[in-house]
Amino acid sequence: MKPVIALVGRPNVGKSTLFNRMTKSRDAIVADFAGLTRDRHYGNGRQGRREYIVIDTGGFEPDAGDGSIFREMARQTQQAVAEADVVLFIVDARAGLSAQDHDIANYLRRLGKTSILVANKAEGMKEGQQLVDFYELGLGEVYPVSAAHGQGIRSLVDFALDSI
Ligand code: GDP
Ligand code: MG
Repeated sequence: MKPVIALVGRPNVGKSTLFNRMTKSRDAIVADFAGLTRDRHYGNGRQGRREYIVIDTGGFEPDAGDGSIFREMARQTQQAVAEADVVLFIVDARAGLSAQDHDIANYLRRLGKTSILVANKAEGMKEGQQLVDFYELGLGEVYPVSAAHGQGIRSLVDFALDSI
């Protein structure tokens, strides 16, 4: 069974951009996930000889105006986290910390799941700039990456796979 990496985080932090970076086969069907094979948020990834499965979250239906979008987000996140060997918790290095980031961090800490805190959109940012706030989330080291520019992704994937 390939290791499973889940991408979680509030909307707009760059999860899907990172998913596309981590999967060469964007619409690939993941054959060894019985029952979930038609879910388009699963992708195959490979780095060198190492293969893995990535789960994107947040492909939810538009908000019906009754808060259902939040329930659906939470459901997808919980399902992805449950299936994952390691979670990449994505935050936005430019936008800084939000209340939703705290909620997700608390959830991940409660579960005790191996989680890596990833600060995306960090291209062109000075080392340490703005990132120190994220240590408040209590998840340890912050990994700056730029999904859009492909910076820091290889070492992040190696680190994630090594941490399983
Ligand atoms: P998601 O809602 O978490 O899946 O976020 P998306 O992947 O849809 O990205 C949200 C927005 O952030 C889009 O406009 C992306 O182009 C932008 N974005 C994603 N990654 C980066 C990045 O590394 N740097 C910058 N500056 N923008 C990014
Ligand atoms: Mg998305």
